[in-house]
Amino acid sequence: MSISFAEKLARIPHYEAGQASVDKVGDPVAKLASNESPYPPVEAVVEAVRAAAGAVNRYPDPSARKLRTALSDRFDYPSTGITVGNGSCEILLAAAEAVLEPWNELVYAWPSFSMYPHMGAATGAKEVRVPLTSDYVHDLDAMLGAINENTRLVVICNPNNPTSTYIPTEHIRSFMEKVPAEVLVILDEAYVEFQAVEDPDSSLDLLKDFSNLVSLRTFSKVYGLAGLRIGYALGSEEFRKATERVRQPFDVNHLAQVAAAEAVTHQDDVTGRVERNLAERLWVSEELAGLGLAEADGQANFSWISLGDLSESTVVRILAEHGVAVRPGEGLGAPGHLRVTYGTRAENERFISAMAAAVSA
Ligand SMILES: *Cc1c(COP(=O)(O)O)cnc(C)c1O
Repeated sequence: MSISFAEKLARIPHYEAGQASVDKVGDPVAKLASNESPYPPVEAVVEAVRAAAGAVNRYPDPSARKLRTALSDRFDYPSTGITVGNGSCEILLAAAEAVLEPWNELVYAWPSFSMYPHMGAATGAKEVRVPLTSDYVHDLDAMLGAINENTRLVVICNPNNPTSTYIPTEHIRSFMEKVPAEVLVILDEAYVEFQAVEDPDSSLDLLKDFSNLVSLRTFSKVYGLAGLRIGYALGSEEFRKATERVRQPFDVNHLAQVAAAEAVTHQDDVTGRVERNLAERLWVSEELAGLGLAEADGQANFSWISLGDLSESTVVRILAEHGVAVRPGEGLGAPGHLRVTYGTRAENERFISAMAAAVSA
């Protein structure tokens, strides 16, 4: 006899982690596959974690009061409506569990974040994937058309992972005006700080007008805290309480809470990171164009490249031989593309010279 696992296990997609960390020549690989920050956290955050380490014999604060207060100050937003999670992915899954019954429907764009298929798989709800436009942008009209009386949850990823494209807030506002008020809309803004289209906080104005809207954000990307697992959501108290019901009480560890509360107070550092990312985006973009490669209009910390006639697997292999790890489009539902995180300038130069080799191979 062997263990009999739940049927839903077969529905849950397997997550393929980034490639090995050292290449054949023994050099560290340029890790451009997971959209992490290439820069370590600001020194004050590292210090705060170090100082807090001696207190981990105690359970963490289950209500993350200090961090929620820090976020409340940062956004001028009531702390009662701020949810903190073990990565924003935990909040996504908790939201799905809190709103979806097996007879409900969930709408999201595709290709989009690899975590969304888990929400349908785990709850048994039917998922409706709405294809992006030919410019790799969310098709909001088609998404509206996909909403019916069974729909309980819509996710919009903005900027979208893996295509890096951004929808201006005013378009989201028009969309929200047409979505039924009982349908929860999660605006996944994991990369919102990086977009150069408008003020990254402009979406927060929408929260005042639409109580069914939640802005999901994270410390994993611009703040450089991916290894600690901490994210947050700005929404309603109702949303926070519902997601807390389905989660374990001590899900966000003490060091993560301390680090995030410190990181929030260093917005000048965030601005510096955003500027460096923008400089790399422009540089990579120009170099890719020089190689004759087309990319989507990127607004995040990664580019989405169309490989045209090139073989995706060959390109990925040549990049790996040059010690560059990227995310192949094949596994993201878009064969013939690559998602490449911006690293340091040295890493980006390595990527571009490897790409030049791939193009001329
Ligand atoms: C990276 C990412 C997240 C962040 O996940 P965490 O669990 O906070 O690390 C959320 N949404 C999208 C679209 C992402 O790409």
